[in-house]
Amino acid sequence: MQEVPLMKTQGYVDGRWCGSDDGRTFGVTNPATGETIADVPRMGASETRRAIEAADKALPAWRSLPAKDRGKIVRRWYELIVERTDDLARIMTLEQGKPLAEARGEIALGAAYVEWNAEEAKRVYGDVIPTLGSDRRMVVVKAPIGVCVGITPWNFPHAMVTRKASPALAAGCTFVLKPAEATPLSALALAALAEEAGFPPGVFNIVTGDESDAPEIGREMTANPIVRKLGFTGSTQVGKLLMEQCAATVKKVSLELGGNAPFIVFDDADVDAAVSGALAAKFRNAGQVCISPNRLYVQAGVHDAFVAKLGERVAKIRVGNGLEDGSQMGPLIEEQGFSKVLAHVEDARKRGAKVVTGGSPHKLGGTFFDPTVLTGVTADMLISNEETFGPVAGIASFDTEANAIAMANDTVFGLAGYFYTRDIGRAWRVAEALETGMVGINTPLIANEAMPFGGIKQSGIGREGSKYGLEEWMEIRYFCFGGIDK
Ligand code: NAP
Repeated sequence: MQEVPLMKTQGYVDGRWCGSDDGRTFGVTNPATGETIADVPRMGASETRRAIEAADKALPAWRSLPAKDRGKIVRRWYELIVERTDDLARIMTLEQGKPLAEARGEIALGAAYVEWNAEEAKRVYGDVIPTLGSDRRMVVVKAPIGVCVGITPWNFPHAMVTRKASPALAAGCTFVLKPAEATPLSALALAALAEEAGFPPGVFNIVTGDESDAPEIGREMTANPIVRKLGFTGSTQVGKLLMEQCAATVKKVSLELGGNAPFIVFDDADVDAAVSGALAAKFRNAGQVCISPNRLYVQAGVHDAFVAKLGERVAKIRVGNGLEDGSQMGPLIEEQGFSKVLAHVEDARKRGAKVVTGGSPHKLGGTFFDPTVLTGVTADMLISNEETFGPVAGIASFDTEANAIAMANDTVFGLAGYFYTRDIGRAWRVAEALETGMVGINTPLIANEAMPFGGIKQSGIGREGSKYGLEEWMEIRYFCFGGIDK
């Protein structure tokens, strides 16, 4: 059978591929070369409204399908994603810049959420509550929320979509997505596979737009009374705005927002494991990861050994176009992100940090940046207070456990935290003390479909993945049956 083409350059509304009402488009750029890969529609409020109305029309039939039948379609989507991994990964590398191997990894992760939710759809159990009187029976059921919308970022252009759309669709909701300006192609490719998998028209829709269209699309999504829930991944600033906009119609929100993850290495840690963990967590996707360690705190006794080993390994990271064999780190997504990384490094240097390796724009030019390790990082530096979102490991030394915890928690963010220790008492103590939604103890590999991904404090509300992730797209309803004893 002939394969469906995945390089789609139109929006997807009510089961049809379509342009914008006024025919305007914007260019999607390859960050490694600066070349335009495709032109995609600049949609706005009217196209978004149509997509929401299509999702509303499709809702009754989709919601009423037995969970097992919905799950079969979601599972077929998963199988198609897996079959087309190489094509999807190539599209992702082209528009996002991460090396192909990493892109394949993201497709596998994103697909795993789809598989998980396809299976979980049949296991949405309610409760029967022991009655307070012989005349009544109390029953709790979980029902799909209704029409849902999602807004996703560019750093994980596949997995952030499947992490929202697959639980929503499996739960019986219908869905309208707005992907990031920089990476709409990965999302549109997912829509092509959703169409092939057999989702009825209107169940899954995508509207595209550039940075200047995003507020208009977002306003329609958040103001339209048909929409019952918003799932958003992105910056804390935009998350707060969308939450405020959702207040007028009291929509449910899930917000996966910015992080400022601490990574603590205690004197009793396996230093080699900590170095490998820091390398994997910090330099993946050129550091453009919400759960990437942003502040590395290393206890005085192992500080020098850790710095020497990490510096040596970071200096060997091969930077290049993600499509080229052997590239281990691609460019930053765009000029704005590149300037932020440079500003953080310059600010740290000015305030006394030392460069162990890197510290400059990469010789390849464009938005490529040297993988960088800094020491002598202090709390007043930008790098300690804002998400750098780049390949810069800023290290500070500390003396006591209490100090490390105080520094780690000195932030409004609370997404992920990591620490390395071989002391079991300390492992429990520190895990409980860190104010983050997720904690990696002797491992940076925390994200998978079976765990509840999400933050506390200003890093967000709600969870994605696990049984909790599916429940975010449902609401609890309660039936009280009276007159039973008559
Ligand atoms: P962003 O600027 O907040 O953008 C995220 C999405 O929101 C994009 O689709 C963007 O559209 C859209 N958007 C921007 N302004 C909007 C508005 N006024 N109304 C409606 N939509 C709007 O974030 P980003 O720079 O793309 O992504 C990086 C951020 O995401 C980081 O802070 C990172 O930590 C966070 N993140 C968090 C998680 C998590 O799970 N907690 C995961 C990944 C990333 P355009 O692209 O068209 O502007």
